[in-house]
Order: sequence, then C-alpha cells, then structure tokens
Amino acid sequence: QSLFSDVQVAPKDPILGITEAFLADQNSEKMNLGVGAYRDDDCKPVVLNVVREAESRIAGSNFMEYLPIGGMKAFSDLSVKLAFGEDALPIQEGRVAAVQSLSGTGSCRLMAEFMHRYLPQAKIWIPKPTWSNHHNIWKDAQVQQELYRYYKPESRGLDQEGLLEDLSKGSPGDVVLLHACAHNPTGVDPTPQQWKEISKLMKEKQLFPFFDMAYQGFASGDCTRDAQAIRVFLEDGHLMGCSQSYAKNMGLYGQRIGCFSIITDSADEAKAVESQMKAIARPMYSNPPLHGALLVKEILGNEALKQQWYEEVRGMAERIISMRALLRQHLEDLKNPLPWKHVTEQIGMFCFSGISPEQVDRLAQDYSIYMTRNGRISMAGVTTKNVSRLAEALHKVTT
Ligand code: PMP
Repeated sequence: QSLFSDVQVAPKDPILGITEAFLADQNSEKMNLGVGAYRDDDCKPVVLNVVREAESRIAGSNFMEYLPIGGMKAFSDLSVKLAFGEDALPIQEGRVAAVQSLSGTGSCRLMAEFMHRYLPQAKIWIPKPTWSNHHNIWKDAQVQQELYRYYKPESRGLDQEGLLEDLSKGSPGDVVLLHACAHNPTGVDPTPQQWKEISKLMKEKQLFPFFDMAYQGFASGDCTRDAQAIRVFLEDGHLMGCSQSYAKNMGLYGQRIGCFSIITDSADEAKAVESQMKAIARPMYSNPPLHGALLVKEILGNEALKQQWYEEVRGMAERIISMRALLRQHLEDLKNPLPWKHVTEQIGMFCFSGISPEQVDRLAQDYSIYMTRNGRISMAGVTTKNVSRLAEALHKVTT
C-alpha cells in the first residue's frame, strides 16, 4: 500500500489524445485538424516577423529580475487599450483594474477565483458549447455553473432566441461568459445588432459580462473590428471583465502572456479590485513570466511595430478565411448534397462542420484526418495542398 495507490489515472484531455493518435499514424498525408494553433500554407508553425524584430530589440536586456505580482504595468496599460479602445472612458477615468496573466487560461482562472472570493452568490453562465476548459476552470474555483443556449444545429448558426431566453433567467450579479469574437468551438459570433440585444438584456437584468478574448484580430483580421462586442457593451455603460491572450494573435502560445482586467465603477474601486487580483496571484504563482511581456510591450508600445503586427495578424486571418472559401468550393464542386454555407459564414480558427462523431472516427481510420469528435475542424491546419483531400474525405464520409 503506497501513499498514491488510490490515485486513479485522470481522463485524457480530448485534444491531446488526438495529437497522440496523429503522431502514431504512418500515413505521409495525415492531417491534424485538432489543435488550435496557427500553421502556414506548408503546415509549419509560424513565428511572426514582428516578434522576431521585438526579440532582437530586447535581446541582451540585462533585466532578468522578478516582475511585480501584477506583472509589467506598461504591458497591461497597453493591453487594456487594445481591448477597450485607446480613448475608452473607463481608462481615462482610471476605473480599470488590470494585471498581467498567464495567457487566456490564467486570466479566466483569476476571474473564477475572484468570483469565488468576492462574488460568492454569483453563478457563471457559460455558452453551450464552449471551450471545454472553461468548465474545468470554474469548477476548480467552486463557482456554480449555468449553461445558456448558443448554437443551433439546424441552422449551424446562433440560437439568439434561446440565448436571450436563458440569460433572462439570470439573477442580478451573475456573471456571463461571452466569447468576444471567433467563438470556440462553433465559429459562430453574434452580429452587431444581436450583441446590442444581448447587452440591453444584460443591463436590464444586471448581469455582469466577462469577455474571453482569445482571438482579437484573428477573426476578421482587424483588431478593432474584433473588439466590437466589447465596444457595444462599453457604449451601454456596462462594467465588465476581460481576458486577453496573445497566444494566437501574436503566436506567443508558449510564452503564456495575457491580461486580466475588470472595469469598475470608480478609481477607488479599481485600486481595491486590482489589489485583490494580486492577492489571488501571489500564493498561486507569485508573479508572471517576463519574456512575453517584454515582447508585447515592445510591439504595442511602438507605432511602427504595432502597424506591422496588424498586417501580420491580418495575413493569418486572411489565410484562414481563404481556406474556408476553398473548402466550401471543393465540397460544392463534388456535388455533396449537404449544405456547406456555414463553412464560410463561421469565423475564426475553427469550423464547426456538423459531421457526427462516427464520421469523425471514419475520417481518422480511413483517411488519417484527425479532429475532435464534435466535428470541429481547426482551419489553421488546412492548406492549399491538403484542402482537396479534406473535401474528398468529407464528401466520402457524408454520402
Ligand atoms: N479561451 C478560449 C475561448 C480559447 O479558445 C483558448 C485557447 N484555446 C483560451 C481561452 C486560452 O488560451 P491560452 O491560455 O493559450 O491563452
């Protein structure tokens, strides 16, 4: 009998399981459409040129000290401007509490813990479906979860009616998790008009918006346009929380760099809230890592580099958008009887294809094409070279 004999093996993470199967596959034409990381048209990981430039500028920096608990202030100041807008009123009025976080996951974790400590009555409303880790994060923080309808399988679009109906059941002070753009896994975002309706309802019901923004710039190619949901809520005078990640839009996946912010009612409140964010971070990880913060500060803090970054993030988004068009075109050329309009209507890194788990299994077994069993295709893994093979395989398993 050892101390650990009762510890069971944890269930595999669904995405990591796919990567294992993919790696074991000997087929030279195999495709990994599971993981949500950008690839170029040769299926290679990308380091942005602007990141290389920023690296060269910070190289030799003899600053290797600890950052403060809340991370690099110059970084989080630039970051909240990117999310809320350069001249956002709450920033001007000093009402934004913000800390550097361990990427998007770390921001969500801090928010969940903040809710556990300071909003003990509040539930978190999570869209159905969502990025699966959202459930783990709020569960670990012991916050009660409620689901709201989001996706309508029949139209492969937004279930706006169901969403409004479910959120109207929220209690004042409840927190609603909203994907700011490029909803994962569905690729379905509300239109500006639908955001207005959601914002209005939430204002009436006194629900607190928490925007998970893991893909700013990655959806449309335009960082301002991708923040339009947040701008709608700002116009309506909401207080709100925000999680930002630089994993996808700057390709800084492994650097774990992000920002967690809350717009409060006053500068005094912001001070108190920010001090408590730090009080949560201190026993969890003491202080965040330095390198990614230096890179992002360099890029966002320099007008020329920022413009270069805008161009490069647009390039990534446009490659994905063009792969959507090609995939749909190939499927329609094959005269596949199913509708594929949603492939080009959905946005961001993922295409929620609508195929069944059994069809996903057949794609893996017969064609060495791997994706999550909910039929989510990571468009980042689709290239001009493999798109026709993907379309043919999809055609075969759906007819
Ligand atoms: N939120 C959403 C919706 C995501 O899709 C992801 C990444 N898959 C994250 C948060 C977190 O990513 P990271 O921690 O790498 O920033």
